[in-house]
Amino acid sequence: MEAKSRSLSLKGFTFEEGWEEKKKRAEKIVEILMETHPREKLLIGDPYRTLVHCIISQRMRDKVTYRVWEELFRRYGNIEKIANTPVEEMQEFLRKQGVGLWKTKGEWIVKASKIILEKYGGKVPDNIHELMKLPGIGRKCANIVLAYGFGKQAIPVDTHVNRISKRLGLAPPRVAPEKVEEYLRALIPRDKWIYVNHAMVDHGRSICRPINPKCGECPLRELCPYAKGLVTEEHLRG
Ligand code: SF4
Repeated sequence: MEAKSRSLSLKGFTFEEGWEEKKKRAEKIVEILMETHPREKLLIGDPYRTLVHCIISQRMRDKVTYRVWEELFRRYGNIEKIANTPVEEMQEFLRKQGVGLWKTKGEWIVKASKIILEKYGGKVPDNIHELMKLPGIGRKCANIVLAYGFGKQAIPVDTHVNRISKRLGLAPPRVAPEKVEEYLRALIPRDKWIYVNHAMVDHGRSICRPINPKCGECPLRELCPYAKGLVTEEHLRG
């Protein structure tokens, strides 16, 4: 059976499975993930704060990101103050907080804030194309702002989502994260998109770890080609 979208193919997969079969399996996987990693309420917060958090978080550990992000808003308060902060001052603040890529991130935060203020009247745009025009905002961050900032149906593909989707055979092993997102959007019902990132991140931290995944205790093992040896680390490494 043909894949739903013309740009998606079943050819890159390491095992045989029709598109409709894959869709049913994907639906079950998401249901189990949502049961196993429930979150009462998804963090649907302030889009601007989510956006700044995402810029800081790039190549940073969660704990450090959260501390710096809290301190930044404690010190500078709001978008107007951040937009009017000299770039050098923001860079120095990030450097002192131990943020990697502090030069680039300092510039991105101030410039993105200025653009949101001047071009969008202080409101973060709620569509992916406008978001991706902002400095420091790639596709993953744009989707994070949509899902966690606005509460919209979006699938941010981070390292956990990328790895787990490929182990589960929901995307071929060698495709880029943008393509993984396309497969997931085509396979998973739209009203569940918003859960995918947080459930896979939780799953990736607790069970489907980067090294030595705990397949023996995973609730997805019956549905997982990796657990059956049909997708291997060798496939994933390319
Ligand atoms: S069975 Fe193993 S590889 Fe598959 S999702 Fe679970 S932990 Fe990951």
